Amino acid sequence: MNCCRSALLVAGMLAAVPAHAQWVSRTVDGIMGTRIYVEIWADDPAKGEAAIDAVMDEMRHIDETMSTYKPTSEVSKVNALAAKQPVPISLELFKLLATALEYSRITEGAFDITYASVGYMYNFRERKRPTEQQIAAALPAVNYRHVLLDAKTQTVRFSQPGVRIDLGGIAKGYSVDCGIEILLARGYKHALVNAGGDSRVIGDRFGRPWVVGIRHPDHPDQVITRIPLVDAAFSTSGDYERYFDEDGVRYHHIIDPHTGHSASKVRSATVIAPTATRTDGLSKTAFVLGPEEAMRIYDKLDDVDAVLVTPDGRILYSKGLQPGAAVAPDAATPPTAIPPAAPSTH
Ligand code: ADP
Ligand code: MG
Repeated sequence: MNCCRSALLVAGMLAAVPAHAQWVSRTVDGIMGTRIYVEIWADDPAKGEAAIDAVMDEMRHIDETMSTYKPTSEVSKVNALAAKQPVPISLELFKLLATALEYSRITEGAFDITYASVGYMYNFRERKRPTEQQIAAALPAVNYRHVLLDAKTQTVRFSQPGVRIDLGGIAKGYSVDCGIEILLARGYKHALVNAGGDSRVIGDRFGRPWVVGIRHPDHPDQVITRIPLVDAAFSTSGDYERYFDEDGVRYHHIIDPHTGHSASKVRSATVIAPTATRTDGLSKTAFVLGPEEAMRIYDKLDDVDAVLVTPDGRILYSKGLQPGAAVAPDAATPPTAIPPAAPSTH
């Protein structure tokens, strides 16, 4: 009895001591085929852990809904049925499809979720790619205009057979935004959420910006430039993420909707904007359209900046990042530690 009482007393004393504010972070592998990393400044570390639980749960939910690797996902059902009939979908998926189509228009067709009509025949881990005949046969189905949304009935329909969609180019950015919304709603003022190539930060790191290092396309350990960020999102797409090389050609996961082949006009593209849905929706553009055309589009958008690495190794900056236009990254500040993306399971 005495023993129990003293245990209770100790518990009571512990509860009375304020928990120390600290950075709380977690890495989880295998959601959306990638590694998720969340870091927050938490006054109460236990509440911080609970907030991270909520972010991870949200990411799992998005994976369950959007993955084409899960036959039970909403997107898989759409792919199975939408060429035959209008398919009723959740409001969440409806809105994200509408957003994806908007990015197709903004990027003049470079971003196109129907890339999957050809894209499904690639398997980069197994070094598989479609033949030229297979690409030619499937290519007419690649066109975002084939995706018809009806807001009244909240349905999606494909205008022709053979159309498939895949949200792999926007769902991670979207999930990062959803994670950030959860943290903002819980009052966090300093945080980072990262899913594969897509990240967003809340606030700064106590008077200093978060600093993102952009890696060298061929040397994962070399940082070629650093960008300071406060309250912003960024996405990096690279031809080194999911690929195989064959006879001197790199086959990788960003597909040119016009040709059905890997799009190779840049080696990497980093886009900075207020939301990760936006940066994800824009980071594929330069691969497809090339650096000049892509910069023309990025520079038209007031809230977007970009850093492109060309095949011949040049680093190009959008208007807002050119010398004198932005705060120069502090060379002494080390890049914020975002763990390297895990090898994709897809
Ligand atoms: P990550 O998956 O690491 O975030 P990216 O943001 O570069 O990488 O997205 C690459 C993914 O985008 C591909 O794996 C594929 O699912 C999808 N994708 C490929 N080509 C296109 C395209 N032209 N338009 C839209 N999505 C694409
Ligand atoms: Mg991405």
